[in-house]
Amino acid sequence: MATDDQQPGPEALGKSATQRSAREIAPGVYFLAGFGNTTIIVGDDGVAVVDPGLFINGPRVVGELRAITDLPVRYVIYTHGHYDHAFGTPALLADAQDRGHAAPDIVGHVNVARRFERYAKTSGHLAKTFDLQFASWGPGGGDVVRKATYCPPTIAYEDRIALDGIAGMPLECRHGLGETDDHTWVWVPDAKVIVGGDFIVSSLPNAGTPFRVQRYVLEWAEALEEMAAVEPVAVVSGHGGVFTDDATDMLLTTSQALRWLDGEVVRRINEGQWQEQILAEVELPSEMAASEYLQPLYGCTAFAVRDLLRRYMGWYDGNPSMLFPSTRAEVAQEVLALAGGAEALLQRAEELAAGDAAEQQRALHLVDFVVYGGGPEVADAHRRKADLLDLRADSERSFVAHNVLKSAAVLERQQADDAG
Ligand SMILES: [Zn+2]
Repeated sequence: MATDDQQPGPEALGKSATQRSAREIAPGVYFLAGFGNTTIIVGDDGVAVVDPGLFINGPRVVGELRAITDLPVRYVIYTHGHYDHAFGTPALLADAQDRGHAAPDIVGHVNVARRFERYAKTSGHLAKTFDLQFASWGPGGGDVVRKATYCPPTIAYEDRIALDGIAGMPLECRHGLGETDDHTWVWVPDAKVIVGGDFIVSSLPNAGTPFRVQRYVLEWAEALEEMAAVEPVAVVSGHGGVFTDDATDMLLTTSQALRWLDGEVVRRINEGQWQEQILAEVELPSEMAASEYLQPLYGCTAFAVRDLLRRYMGWYDGNPSMLFPSTRAEVAQEVLALAGGAEALLQRAEELAAGDAAEQQRALHLVDFVVYGGGPEVADAHRRKADLLDLRADSERSFVAHNVLKSAAVLERQQADDAG
Protein backbone atom coordinates (compact mmCIF):
# COMPACT_ATOMS: atom_id res chain seq x y z
CA MET A 1 0.00 0.00 0.00
CA ALA A 2 1.14 3.52 -0.59
CA THR A 3 2.21 5.57 2.40
CA ASP A 4 0.14 7.88 4.53
CA ASP A 5 -1.13 10.16 1.78
CA GLN A 6 -3.20 7.32 0.41
CA GLN A 7 -6.68 6.73 1.71
CA PRO A 8 -9.37 4.53 0.27
CA GLY A 9 -12.05 6.29 -1.72
CA PRO A 10 -12.12 9.46 -3.77
CA GLU A 11 -10.96 11.59 -0.82
CA ALA A 12 -7.44 10.36 -1.53
CA LEU A 13 -7.72 11.98 -4.92
CA GLY A 14 -9.26 15.20 -3.79
CA LYS A 15 -9.59 18.00 -1.35
CA SER A 16 -8.25 16.48 1.86
CA ALA A 17 -4.85 16.09 0.21
CA THR A 18 -4.48 19.85 -0.09
CA GLN A 19 -4.48 20.25 3.71
CA ARG A 20 -1.00 18.71 4.02
CA SER A 21 2.43 20.31 3.73
CA ALA A 22 5.26 19.10 1.53
CA ARG A 23 7.36 16.29 3.01
CA GLU A 24 10.81 15.04 2.06
CA ILE A 25 10.56 11.50 0.61
CA ALA A 26 14.25 11.19 -0.39
CA PRO A 27 17.20 13.58 -0.01
CA GLY A 28 16.21 16.73 -1.88
CA VAL A 29 12.89 15.36 -3.15
CA TYR A 30 9.70 16.77 -1.62
CA PHE A 31 6.18 15.44 -2.19
CA LEU A 32 3.24 17.85 -2.03
CA ALA A 33 -0.14 16.16 -2.19
CA GLY A 34 -2.90 17.89 -4.12
CA PHE A 35 -5.79 17.00 -6.38
CA GLY A 36 -2.89 16.50 -8.78
CA ASN A 37 0.32 15.93 -6.83
CA THR A 38 3.38 18.22 -7.05
CA THR A 39 7.01 17.19 -6.56
CA ILE A 40 9.72 19.71 -5.65
CA ILE A 41 13.30 18.61 -6.39
CA VAL A 42 16.04 20.69 -4.77
CA GLY A 43 19.66 20.64 -5.99
CA ASP A 44 22.72 22.68 -4.95
CA ASP A 45 21.91 25.77 -6.98
CA GLY A 46 18.35 25.40 -8.24
CA VAL A 47 15.02 23.64 -8.10
CA ALA A 48 12.76 21.65 -10.39
CA VAL A 49 9.00 21.64 -9.82
CA VAL A 50 7.15 18.72 -11.38
CA ASP A 51 3.44 19.40 -12.01
CA PRO A 52 2.34 22.67 -10.39
CA GLY A 53 -1.24 21.37 -10.55
CA LEU A 54 -4.55 23.18 -11.02
CA PHE A 55 -4.41 26.94 -11.64
CA ILE A 56 -5.78 27.55 -8.14
CA ASN A 57 -2.96 25.40 -6.73
CA GLY A 58 -0.11 27.62 -7.99
CA PRO A 59 0.12 29.98 -4.98
CA ARG A 60 0.12 26.99 -2.62
CA VAL A 61 3.03 25.42 -4.52
CA VAL A 62 4.98 28.69 -4.28
CA GLY A 63 4.26 28.91 -0.54
CA GLU A 64 5.43 25.34 0.10
CA LEU A 65 8.48 25.78 -2.15
CA ARG A 66 9.56 28.95 -0.36
CA ALA A 67 9.19 27.25 3.02
CA ILE A 68 11.83 24.77 1.79
CA THR A 69 14.34 26.89 -0.16
CA ASP A 70 15.12 30.33 -1.61
CA LEU A 71 16.91 28.85 -4.62
CA PRO A 72 15.63 29.76 -8.09
CA VAL A 73 13.32 27.42 -9.97
CA ARG A 74 15.28 26.20 -12.97
CA TYR A 75 12.69 23.82 -14.42
CA VAL A 76 8.93 23.45 -14.32
CA ILE A 77 8.32 19.94 -15.68
CA TYR A 78 4.90 18.77 -16.88
CA THR A 79 4.17 15.06 -16.66
CA HIS A 80 1.36 15.87 -19.11
CA GLY A 81 -0.79 18.80 -20.15
CA HIS A 82 -3.97 18.08 -18.17
CA TYR A 83 -5.62 20.93 -16.32
CA ASP A 84 -4.94 19.34 -12.94
CA HIS A 85 -1.17 19.12 -13.57
CA ALA A 86 0.20 21.86 -15.81
CA PHE A 87 -1.68 25.03 -14.90
CA GLY A 88 -0.21 26.29 -11.60
CA THR A 89 2.75 27.69 -13.58
CA PRO A 90 1.83 31.43 -13.61
CA ALA A 91 2.37 31.65 -9.83
CA LEU A 92 5.88 30.18 -10.24
CA LEU A 93 6.69 32.62 -13.06
CA ALA A 94 5.48 35.52 -10.90
CA ASP A 95 7.59 34.30 -7.97
CA ALA A 96 10.70 34.18 -10.19
CA GLN A 97 10.03 37.72 -11.37
CA ASP A 98 9.45 39.01 -7.81
CA ARG A 99 12.76 37.51 -6.70
CA GLY A 100 14.74 38.72 -9.70
CA HIS A 101 15.39 35.16 -10.84
CA ALA A 102 15.54 34.15 -14.50
CA ALA A 103 12.27 32.64 -15.70
CA PRO A 104 12.37 28.84 -15.35
CA ASP A 105 12.40 26.62 -18.40
CA ILE A 106 9.16 24.70 -18.86
CA VAL A 107 9.86 21.11 -19.88
CA GLY A 108 7.37 18.75 -21.51
CA HIS A 109 6.77 16.31 -24.33
CA VAL A 110 6.26 17.82 -27.80
CA ASN A 111 2.58 16.87 -27.70
CA VAL A 112 1.88 19.15 -24.70
CA ALA A 113 1.81 22.22 -26.96
CA ARG A 114 -0.43 20.37 -29.44
CA ARG A 115 -2.74 19.49 -26.54
CA PHE A 116 -2.92 23.13 -25.47
CA GLU A 117 -3.84 24.12 -29.04
CA ARG A 118 -6.63 21.55 -29.03
CA TYR A 119 -7.79 22.74 -25.61
CA ALA A 120 -8.02 26.34 -26.84
CA LYS A 121 -9.82 25.19 -30.00
CA THR A 122 -12.46 23.17 -28.11
CA SER A 123 -12.64 25.17 -24.89
CA GLY A 124 -16.43 25.58 -24.93
CA HIS A 125 -16.94 21.85 -25.14
CA LEU A 126 -14.27 21.11 -22.55
CA ALA A 127 -15.69 23.58 -20.02
CA LYS A 128 -19.08 21.88 -20.31
CA THR A 129 -17.59 18.42 -19.81
CA PHE A 130 -15.62 19.56 -16.77
CA ASP A 131 -18.85 20.96 -15.33
CA LEU A 132 -20.38 17.51 -15.82
CA GLN A 133 -17.40 15.53 -14.49
CA PHE A 134 -16.53 17.70 -11.51
CA ALA A 135 -19.60 19.78 -10.65
CA SER A 136 -20.46 17.78 -7.56
CA TRP A 137 -16.82 17.75 -6.40
CA GLY A 138 -15.91 21.37 -5.92
CA PRO A 139 -13.16 23.48 -7.35
CA GLY A 140 -14.89 25.12 -10.19
CA GLY A 141 -15.77 22.35 -12.62
CA GLY A 142 -15.45 24.09 -15.97
CA ASP A 143 -13.57 27.01 -14.41
CA VAL A 144 -10.39 24.96 -14.79
CA VAL A 145 -10.90 25.53 -18.51
CA ARG A 146 -12.40 29.03 -18.44
CA LYS A 147 -9.69 30.49 -16.19
CA ALA A 148 -6.72 28.58 -17.60
CA THR A 149 -3.50 30.33 -18.62
CA TYR A 150 -1.54 28.23 -21.10
CA CYS A 151 2.22 28.14 -20.48
CA PRO A 152 3.57 25.70 -23.10
CA PRO A 153 6.99 24.04 -22.79
CA THR A 154 10.05 26.09 -23.66
CA ILE A 155 11.99 22.80 -23.83
CA ALA A 156 9.97 20.18 -25.75
CA TYR A 157 11.38 16.69 -26.19
CA GLU A 158 10.27 13.57 -28.09
CA ASP A 159 11.58 10.37 -26.52
CA ARG A 160 13.78 11.24 -23.57
CA ILE A 161 15.85 14.17 -22.37
CA ALA A 162 18.53 14.57 -19.70
CA LEU A 163 18.32 17.80 -17.71
CA ASP A 164 21.59 18.82 -16.05
CA GLY A 165 20.81 22.42 -15.17
CA ILE A 166 20.61 21.80 -11.41
CA ALA A 167 23.96 21.13 -9.75
CA GLY A 168 24.02 17.84 -7.86
CA MET A 169 20.59 16.71 -9.07
CA PRO A 170 20.58 15.28 -12.60
CA LEU A 171 17.10 14.56 -13.97
CA GLU A 172 15.80 12.54 -16.86
CA CYS A 173 12.42 12.89 -18.56
CA ARG A 174 11.11 9.86 -20.43
CA HIS A 175 8.09 9.75 -22.69
CA GLY A 176 5.50 7.02 -22.86
CA LEU A 177 1.91 6.76 -24.04
CA GLY A 178 -0.66 6.08 -21.34
CA GLU A 179 -3.41 8.30 -19.99
CA THR A 180 -2.33 10.78 -22.66
CA ASP A 181 -0.16 11.04 -25.78
CA ASP A 182 2.03 13.71 -24.15
CA HIS A 183 3.09 11.84 -21.02
CA THR A 184 6.41 12.11 -19.20
CA TRP A 185 7.78 10.30 -16.22
CA VAL A 186 10.73 11.83 -14.41
CA TRP A 187 13.64 9.75 -13.17
CA VAL A 188 15.79 11.20 -10.39
CA PRO A 189 18.69 8.71 -10.51
CA ASP A 190 20.68 9.92 -7.47
CA ALA A 191 17.61 9.62 -5.24
CA LYS A 192 16.26 6.60 -7.18
CA VAL A 193 12.86 8.29 -7.29
CA ILE A 194 10.34 8.22 -10.12
CA VAL A 195 7.78 10.97 -10.47
CA GLY A 196 5.20 9.04 -12.41
CA GLY A 197 2.50 11.57 -13.28
CA ASP A 198 -0.76 9.87 -14.19
CA PHE A 199 0.92 6.65 -15.17
CA ILE A 200 0.49 6.11 -11.41
CA VAL A 201 -2.94 6.88 -9.99
CA SER A 202 -3.09 4.64 -6.89
CA SER A 203 -6.02 2.70 -8.33
CA LEU A 204 -7.08 0.96 -11.54
CA PRO A 205 -5.57 3.16 -14.29
CA ASN A 206 -8.01 5.64 -15.73
CA ALA A 207 -7.45 4.20 -19.17
CA GLY A 208 -10.64 5.47 -20.77
CA THR A 209 -12.97 8.16 -19.55
CA PRO A 210 -16.31 9.27 -20.96
CA PHE A 211 -15.49 12.77 -22.20
CA ARG A 212 -11.86 12.46 -23.20
CA VAL A 213 -9.89 11.50 -26.28
CA GLN A 214 -8.04 8.23 -26.86
CA ARG A 215 -5.96 6.63 -24.09
CA TYR A 216 -3.31 3.91 -24.56
CA VAL A 217 -3.72 0.76 -22.49
CA LEU A 218 -0.91 -1.42 -23.87
CA GLU A 219 1.71 1.35 -24.03
CA TRP A 220 0.73 2.30 -20.47
CA ALA A 221 1.73 -1.21 -19.40
CA GLU A 222 5.03 -0.90 -21.26
CA ALA A 223 5.83 2.40 -19.51
CA LEU A 224 5.17 0.84 -16.09
CA GLU A 225 7.53 -2.03 -16.95
CA GLU A 226 10.20 0.47 -18.02
CA MET A 227 9.80 2.17 -14.65
CA ALA A 228 10.15 -1.11 -12.76
CA ALA A 229 13.35 -1.85 -14.72
CA VAL A 230 15.19 1.15 -13.21
CA GLU A 231 14.49 -0.25 -9.71
CA PRO A 232 13.16 2.86 -8.00
CA VAL A 233 13.03 3.13 -4.19
CA ALA A 234 10.06 5.49 -4.41
CA VAL A 235 7.40 6.16 -7.03
CA VAL A 236 5.31 9.32 -6.75
CA SER A 237 1.76 9.06 -8.10
CA GLY A 238 -0.09 11.75 -10.00
CA HIS A 239 -3.08 11.17 -7.70
CA GLY A 240 -2.83 9.45 -4.32
CA GLY A 241 0.37 8.75 -2.43
CA VAL A 242 4.00 7.68 -2.73
CA PHE A 243 4.85 4.01 -3.24
CA THR A 244 8.07 2.81 -1.58
CA ASP A 245 8.73 -0.81 -0.52
CA ASP A 246 6.00 -2.14 -2.78
CA ALA A 247 6.70 0.17 -5.74
CA THR A 248 7.84 -2.63 -8.06
CA ASP A 249 4.93 -4.84 -7.06
CA MET A 250 2.50 -2.01 -7.76
CA LEU A 251 4.09 -1.24 -11.15
CA LEU A 252 4.11 -4.83 -12.37
CA THR A 253 0.70 -5.78 -10.96
CA THR A 254 -0.78 -2.77 -12.74
CA SER A 255 1.01 -3.45 -16.03
CA GLN A 256 -0.17 -7.07 -15.90
CA ALA A 257 -3.80 -5.93 -15.59
CA LEU A 258 -3.47 -3.47 -18.46
CA ARG A 259 -1.88 -6.12 -20.68
CA TRP A 260 -4.67 -8.53 -19.76
CA LEU A 261 -7.37 -6.00 -20.68
CA ASP A 262 -5.75 -5.25 -24.04
CA GLY A 263 -5.32 -8.94 -24.85
CA GLU A 264 -8.83 -9.89 -23.79
CA VAL A 265 -10.53 -7.18 -25.86
CA VAL A 266 -8.39 -7.96 -28.91
CA ARG A 267 -9.12 -11.69 -28.56
CA ARG A 268 -12.86 -11.05 -28.50
CA ILE A 269 -12.71 -8.65 -31.44
CA ASN A 270 -10.85 -11.27 -33.45
CA GLU A 271 -13.52 -13.82 -32.56
CA GLY A 272 -16.07 -11.52 -34.15
CA GLN A 273 -17.72 -10.15 -31.04
CA TRP A 274 -19.26 -6.68 -31.15
CA GLN A 275 -18.98 -3.82 -28.68
CA GLU A 276 -22.13 -4.55 -26.68
CA GLN A 277 -21.12 -8.11 -25.81
CA ILE A 278 -17.53 -7.16 -25.02
CA LEU A 279 -18.63 -4.32 -22.75
CA ALA A 280 -21.11 -6.54 -20.97
CA GLU A 281 -18.72 -9.46 -20.41
CA VAL A 282 -15.17 -8.19 -19.82
CA GLU A 283 -14.25 -8.02 -16.15
CA LEU A 284 -10.84 -8.28 -14.57
CA PRO A 285 -10.05 -11.82 -13.34
CA SER A 286 -10.91 -12.10 -9.66
CA GLU A 287 -7.31 -12.14 -8.37
CA MET A 288 -6.61 -8.90 -10.24
CA ALA A 289 -9.91 -7.33 -9.20
CA ALA A 290 -8.98 -8.03 -5.57
CA SER A 291 -5.59 -6.25 -5.80
CA GLU A 292 -5.25 -3.14 -3.68
CA TYR A 293 -3.55 -1.46 -6.67
CA LEU A 294 -6.42 -2.09 -9.06
CA GLN A 295 -9.50 -0.83 -7.26
CA PRO A 296 -11.86 1.19 -9.51
CA LEU A 297 -11.61 4.36 -7.42
CA TYR A 298 -11.17 6.84 -10.27
CA GLY A 299 -11.81 5.09 -13.57
CA CYS A 300 -13.27 1.60 -14.00
CA THR A 301 -12.86 -1.48 -16.17
CA ALA A 302 -15.79 -0.66 -18.45
CA PHE A 303 -14.29 2.72 -19.32
CA ALA A 304 -10.93 1.13 -20.18
CA VAL A 305 -12.72 -1.42 -22.38
CA ARG A 306 -14.45 1.45 -24.19
CA ASP A 307 -11.13 3.02 -25.08
CA LEU A 308 -9.75 -0.30 -26.27
CA LEU A 309 -12.78 -0.72 -28.53
CA ARG A 310 -12.28 2.79 -29.86
CA ARG A 311 -8.62 2.02 -30.45
CA TYR A 312 -9.12 -1.17 -32.42
CA MET A 313 -12.55 -0.84 -34.07
CA GLY A 314 -14.60 1.65 -36.04
CA TRP A 315 -17.87 2.95 -34.62
CA TYR A 316 -20.11 0.43 -36.38
CA ASP A 317 -21.66 -1.69 -33.63
CA GLY A 318 -22.74 -4.78 -35.59
CA ASN A 319 -26.38 -3.75 -35.86
CA PRO A 320 -27.22 -2.33 -39.31
CA SER A 321 -30.27 -0.58 -37.84
CA MET A 322 -27.78 1.75 -36.18
CA LEU A 323 -25.96 2.75 -39.35
CA PHE A 324 -28.41 5.62 -39.92
CA PRO A 325 -30.42 5.57 -36.67
CA SER A 326 -33.68 7.40 -36.00
CA THR A 327 -33.50 10.03 -33.29
CA ARG A 328 -34.30 8.95 -29.72
CA ALA A 329 -37.39 11.16 -29.82
CA GLU A 330 -38.73 9.42 -32.94
CA VAL A 331 -38.31 5.96 -31.44
CA ALA A 332 -39.69 7.10 -28.08
CA GLN A 333 -42.86 8.49 -29.64
CA GLU A 334 -43.50 5.17 -31.39
CA VAL A 335 -43.00 3.23 -28.15
CA LEU A 336 -45.18 5.64 -26.14
CA ALA A 337 -47.96 5.32 -28.69
CA LEU A 338 -47.83 1.53 -28.54
CA ALA A 339 -47.69 1.55 -24.73
CA GLY A 340 -50.78 3.75 -24.61
CA GLY A 341 -48.90 6.65 -23.03
CA ALA A 342 -46.27 7.12 -20.36
CA GLU A 343 -48.01 5.50 -17.43
CA ALA A 344 -47.09 1.86 -18.08
CA LEU A 345 -43.45 2.74 -18.69
CA LEU A 346 -43.15 4.89 -15.56
CA GLN A 347 -44.94 2.24 -13.50
CA ARG A 348 -42.54 -0.48 -14.62
CA ALA A 349 -39.57 1.85 -14.01
CA GLU A 350 -40.83 2.38 -10.47
CA GLU A 351 -40.82 -1.39 -9.87
CA LEU A 352 -37.34 -1.80 -11.31
CA ALA A 353 -36.00 1.11 -9.23
CA ALA A 354 -36.46 -1.02 -6.12
CA GLY A 355 -34.10 -3.68 -7.53
CA ASP A 356 -30.36 -3.93 -8.03
CA ALA A 357 -28.10 -1.71 -10.16
CA ALA A 358 -28.85 -3.65 -13.34
CA GLU A 359 -32.59 -3.24 -12.78
CA GLN A 360 -32.17 0.44 -11.99
CA GLN A 361 -30.23 0.78 -15.22
CA ARG A 362 -33.10 -0.82 -17.16
CA ALA A 363 -35.49 1.57 -15.41
CA LEU A 364 -33.44 4.47 -16.77
CA HIS A 365 -33.94 3.23 -20.32
CA LEU A 366 -37.71 2.98 -19.79
CA VAL A 367 -37.91 6.48 -18.29
CA ASP A 368 -35.90 7.76 -21.26
CA PHE A 369 -38.76 6.87 -23.61
CA VAL A 370 -40.89 9.33 -21.65
CA VAL A 371 -38.14 11.96 -21.36
CA TYR A 372 -37.41 11.88 -25.09
CA GLY A 373 -41.05 11.33 -26.09
CA GLY A 374 -41.81 14.89 -25.03
CA GLY A 375 -45.37 14.28 -23.79
CA PRO A 376 -47.20 15.86 -20.81
CA GLU A 377 -45.38 13.63 -18.29
CA VAL A 378 -41.94 14.88 -19.30
CA ALA A 379 -41.33 16.92 -16.12
CA ASP A 380 -42.23 13.95 -13.96
CA ALA A 381 -39.98 11.73 -16.07
CA HIS A 382 -37.02 14.09 -15.60
CA ARG A 383 -37.57 13.91 -11.83
CA ARG A 384 -37.75 10.13 -11.83
CA LYS A 385 -34.67 9.98 -14.01
CA ALA A 386 -32.83 12.20 -11.52
CA ASP A 387 -33.76 9.84 -8.67
CA LEU A 388 -32.58 6.84 -10.69
CA LEU A 389 -29.28 8.56 -11.52
CA ASP A 390 -28.71 9.20 -7.81
CA LEU A 391 -29.38 5.52 -7.11
CA ARG A 392 -26.98 4.44 -9.85
CA ALA A 393 -24.33 6.83 -8.52
CA ASP A 394 -24.57 5.17 -5.10
CA SER A 395 -23.48 1.85 -6.58
CA GLU A 396 -20.55 3.22 -8.63
CA ARG A 397 -17.18 3.39 -6.84
CA SER A 398 -15.44 5.14 -9.71
CA PHE A 399 -14.98 8.85 -8.95
CA VAL A 400 -15.62 9.76 -12.59
CA ALA A 401 -18.71 7.56 -12.98
CA HIS A 402 -20.13 8.72 -9.64
CA ASN A 403 -19.62 12.40 -10.47
CA VAL A 404 -21.07 12.17 -13.95
CA LEU A 405 -24.20 10.45 -12.65
CA LYS A 406 -24.61 12.88 -9.73
CA SER A 407 -24.08 15.94 -11.91
CA ALA A 408 -26.53 14.60 -14.49
CA ALA A 409 -29.14 14.16 -11.73
CA VAL A 410 -28.81 17.86 -10.87
CA LEU A 411 -29.34 18.77 -14.53
CA GLU A 412 -32.38 16.49 -14.83
CA ARG A 413 -34.01 18.27 -11.87
CA GLN A 414 -33.34 21.62 -13.54
CA GLN A 415 -34.97 20.34 -16.73
CA ALA A 416 -37.95 19.10 -14.71
CA ASP A 417 -38.37 22.60 -13.26
CA ASP A 418 -37.99 24.18 -16.70
CA ALA A 419 -40.60 21.81 -18.13
CA GLY A 420 -43.00 22.80 -15.32
ZN1 LIG B 1 -4.30 13.79 -13.45
